[in-house]
Amino acid sequence: MHTFTFCPKCGTPLQEAVIENRDRQQCPACSWIHYRNPLPVTIAFARNQDDELLVIRRAHPPAENEWALPGGFLETGETPEEGCLRELLEETSLKGRVEGLIGAYHRENEMYGSLLVIAYKIIVHTPEIRINHEVHEAGFYHPDALPDIRIPLHNQIISDAASLVSPGSLR
Ligand SMILES: [Zn+2]
Repeated sequence: MHTFTFCPKCGTPLQEAVIENRDRQQCPACSWIHYRNPLPVTIAFARNQDDELLVIRRAHPPAENEWALPGGFLETGETPEEGCLRELLEETSLKGRVEGLIGAYHRENEMYGSLLVIAYKIIVHTPEIRINHEVHEAGFYHPDALPDIRIPLHNQIISDAASLVSPGSLR
């Protein structure tokens, strides 16, 4: 989470101020206000043609070594769907297609602060997994034989995806 002592625009020491009923920092010289907004993250609930779910084991904090759904931060200029497919490709070399939106969630993360998490259902249409440095291992698992996923939000997303009556098609 970003904290500032000096104004990033003009270098003047920031002052505490209550603006729009929230404690914020403001620059007394140029009036720059430090708005704190959640970081957007996408998560992929990605299945293959056999309805097996892609699960990875994370190689970096937060939740290092934990089983998880693949995902990551959006980059400036990309749509959430593009970011979700890019993260999937980077972490596992798998290509897929967005099948529908599962939901949008808010979480407080100890490393990154406030997160806006957007989860998509994805159909993967390439077979071979090749992991990158962010991942210890990755595989497709039958829904009844998933590894022990202990990240509450990821379990929530899996449960929400299962309760969708029919996949909402985006194309
Ligand atoms: Zn300033």
